[in-house]
Amino acid sequence: MKRLSGKNAIITGSTRGIGKGIALRFAEEGANVCITGTKIETVEPVVKEIEALGVRALGFALNVADYKAVEEMTAKVKEAWGSLDILVNNAGITKDNLILRMTPEDFDAVININLKGVFNGMKAAVPIMMKQRSGKIINISSVIGLTGNAGQANYAASKAGIIGMTKSIAKEFAARGMQVNAIAPGYIQTDMTDKVPDNIKEEILKMVPMKRMGQPEDIAKAALFLASGDSDYITGQTLVVDGGMVMS
Ligand code: NDP
Repeated sequence: MKRLSGKNAIITGSTRGIGKGIALRFAEEGANVCITGTKIETVEPVVKEIEALGVRALGFALNVADYKAVEEMTAKVKEAWGSLDILVNNAGITKDNLILRMTPEDFDAVININLKGVFNGMKAAVPIMMKQRSGKIINISSVIGLTGNAGQANYAASKAGIIGMTKSIAKEFAARGMQVNAIAPGYIQTDMTDKVPDNIKEEILKMVPMKRMGQPEDIAKAALFLASGDSDYITGQTLVVDGGMVMS
């Protein structure tokens, strides 16, 4: 028996990296999956990959910081498939710099996509899930939201904000059959981390007790747990998936 048979999921920022890993894993487990990216050229091939797994797929090119666009997409998924069971707010960017050099524009861009984007996804989804009296929301934070990091004040603020927002929405909907949790990935091999210089990568790896970078599949496994019935009594939590990098 597949673990997400008959479920309908939206996963933002799923044309590559962690989001794509989650989208493919959910599709393998029987979920219909709606993916998003910023460009239709990157969205279409992934829609085809998902359909090839024998489930239904939809794809939208949009900016998660644009509430109207997110609301329209969410309504279209509900209209096409009848329910929305799982939402993974994954889309995110970095614009790193020490605060002395970080521009207000770079601060706003990261907050708008990483933090307001997660708010937008939840705001559009919760009325649907509330009526269903069921739903799983998974917000992708980061270990940087727990520890902070020099050069990432904007990113750390957005990822710490996701954790506080996750707990708040979890409390608002806990009695209505919905679970809202976050995942804090550590150091995962994607386009986002490929741009980190090699010497810094080596330094980061020294802080990972498991001595390897994570793969998108490592995060997908945790997301599958939180999206499935196995997590029905878990809400407001942040699951750290980082090879042991951050232990509190
Ligand atoms: P990637 O840069 O590999 O992929 C980013 C994805 O987000 C792409 O699908 C991209 O679409 C989409 N995206 C970017 N901006 C927007 C936007 N404004 N609106 C909609 N979609 C957008 O990132 P990762 O897979 O590495 O990261 C995914 C998430 O995981 C992020 O939230 C990140 O902060 C978090 N994370 C990553 C870690 C890592 O080590 N990689 C560690 C901790 C957290 P397109 O292809 O069209 O540009």
